[in-house]
Amino acid sequence: MKVLVINCGSSSLKYQLINSETEEVLAKGLCERIGIDGRLTHKPEGKETVEMEHPMPNHTEAVSLVLAQLTDEKNGVITSLDEIGAVGHRVVHGGEKFASSTLLTDEVIAKIEECNDLAPLHNPANLIGINACKELMPNTPMVGVFDTAFHQTMPEEAYLYGLPYEYYEKYGVRRYGFHGTSHSYVSKKAAEVLGKNPEDLRVIVCHLGNGSSICAVNRGKSVDTSMGLTPLEGVPMGTRSGSIDPAIVDFIAEKENLSLSEVMNVLNKKSGVQGLSQLSSDFRDLTDGSNNGNELATKALKVFAYNVGKYIGAYTAAMGGVDVVAFTAGVGENASQVREMIGTYLEFLGTKIDPEKNQVRGREAVISTDDSKVLAMVIPTNEELVIARDTVEILSK
Ligand code: ADP
Repeated sequence: MKVLVINCGSSSLKYQLINSETEEVLAKGLCERIGIDGRLTHKPEGKETVEMEHPMPNHTEAVSLVLAQLTDEKNGVITSLDEIGAVGHRVVHGGEKFASSTLLTDEVIAKIEECNDLAPLHNPANLIGINACKELMPNTPMVGVFDTAFHQTMPEEAYLYGLPYEYYEKYGVRRYGFHGTSHSYVSKKAAEVLGKNPEDLRVIVCHLGNGSSICAVNRGKSVDTSMGLTPLEGVPMGTRSGSIDPAIVDFIAEKENLSLSEVMNVLNKKSGVQGLSQLSSDFRDLTDGSNNGNELATKALKVFAYNVGKYIGAYTAAMGGVDVVAFTAGVGENASQVREMIGTYLEFLGTKIDPEKNQVRGREAVISTDDSKVLAMVIPTNEELVIARDTVEILSK
């Protein structure tokens, strides 16, 4: 079956058309600046990349343009939309309502809407994508794959905050966690690469990208993760602060004469390694900067690596031990220098990063020395493939 995978953001839309039998990507691309002007990058397999400026006043127009490119005589990879057997949608927040991927019926769509409160930046955009596809392909089944679903196995001591219990009861204030498709895929893939059963392994997955989260996967199940009610908690990220003393919000609001939402904007968009380094949120700029003597870039990288190391220590305690530490996503897969810095905190596990093996980029590999007690690995993530696989599985039920 050919599955169209859609990841719809507020002004962008990423897509992949995947042949589920061969798991081959037939085409992928990105619509940007939706609602502003509109730009499409379309990469059909075996053909030249298409880049075009095209008005996209809304998401329906963007989806319509994508479908036109997929079936285009010159740039297309299929002859008719009937060839698309299903659409898999990434949905960021499923609250406590979704512990697995689900067929998108009207009732399910209504339940996703009820989660909008918990992810006001993400879920409404995901729903717009779902509705646009429904309008343009009314007879094609659709499946929702949730970032939060994999973490629904966390025990309550991991997901409850030290807040009045009624906030959990009334508003669902608790840890949900994100990047679930990635943590699930990477922990299973690590087991596969080692020829082991996921049920026999304790894996700490470090998904390090623009947004970063760490997850303790105990014998196939998420038991704790660093992001919380929202993706703001955890390690410092590209532009997000990660965990801070909550009293800082009020303190800075007063000192800088900012409103609550202005402080939240600083925490989301001007903090993390960007805020610390005053240079960039991009780890390539930070490693280059640090290697050229930029002290703030070095400080930002040190704070980042230390915090990742600290979570690894915490999750080792949470699982009573660990067998594999797996690095994934843009930074985790590519930035050997950052992995090496995090590696200095793994010595208590009897793990040493092998400088030569650590030169690997973007492919599965063990990067710890042969005598390391706990393995460090690089496992490239593939969220789109998980969405396509889940979509086919749900439809076959
Ligand atoms: P997102 O959270 O947007 O999905 P990605 O997983 O694509 O992010 O990761 C983006 C990050 O990966 C950027 O900060 C980028 O600097 C970093 N990155 C990509 N390639 C490299 C590299 N070769 N060295 C260091 N960092 C890299």
